[in-house]
Amino acid sequence: SGYVSLKGVRKSYRMGEVTIHAVDGIEFEIEKGEFVVIVGPSGAGKTTVLNILGGMDTCDEGEVLVDGQDVSKYRKRELTAYRREAIGFVFQFYNLVQNLTALENVELALQICKNPLDAKQVLTEVGLGERLANFPAQLSGGEQQRVAIARALAKNPKLLLCDEPTGALDYQTGKAILKLLQDTCRERGMTVIVITHNSAIAPMADRMIKIKNGKVSRITVNPEPVSVD
Ligand code: ADP
Ligand code: ADP
Repeated sequence: SGYVSLKGVRKSYRMGEVTIHAVDGIEFEIEKGEFVVIVGPSGAGKTTVLNILGGMDTCDEGEVLVDGQDVSKYRKRELTAYRREAIGFVFQFYNLVQNLTALENVELALQICKNPLDAKQVLTEVGLGERLANFPAQLSGGEQQRVAIARALAKNPKLLLCDEPTGALDYQTGKAILKLLQDTCRERGMTVIVITHNSAIAPMADRMIKIKNGKVSRITVNPEPVSVD
């Protein structure tokens, strides 16, 4: 089976009398080094799947295999270590520390990490070699997202998980960020999974997974340019 493999994954939320089946029997497989895109309508369960994969949330049922290990069986301590060591996260709103420079933001994240890459070098690779000493407020949205990507990459994670990384950016800037993520995937052989509404992404993906009502509704390998919604 694949490098990442989800089988029968379910997750419900109880809200008073109401139970929401956020993830309702998700199955998919991903090979090592693939650039994978998750699309689907708002509320479909995309973020919940990504959070389960990254150890930020737990599932009620199912198997979540990453590099041969079942993440769903991890206890709290193993899950924390997994999140710190094996996973890089990139979010819509960069989540940078405002009173630290670009370089300090990346270095801070590496303090709790076992096998980090060189912070300066990774920032240079994402195009911010001249911006190391700048604070987030001195950077554009696209540049701030590059800092966040460098911060995630510098951990040298097994999986890079990105939840709407272009959601706060204009279309062209978003496209450049997606290109950076794809280059990272190709050059480092890193497995990258991106939730996005950006329609530029489809032709860039090795695999496009469409989620609807908590289930996989379609998997496309090497998709043609199409609408992602
Ligand atoms: P989008 O797909 O547009 O990015 P989100 O994934 O942020 O949207 O949220 C989808 C829906 O899930 C929204 O209706 C939001 O209010 C709801 N939601 C997200 N997180 C929570 C939460 N922690 N508690 C309750 N509802 C949530
Ligand atoms: P998407 O990312 O595709 O927009 P989500 O995974 O955020 O979808 O949400 C799936 C469903 O689960 C939605 O109906 C959302 O409201 C619900 N949900 C997500 N997180 C929570 C939460 N912490 N508490 C309650 N409901 C949640």
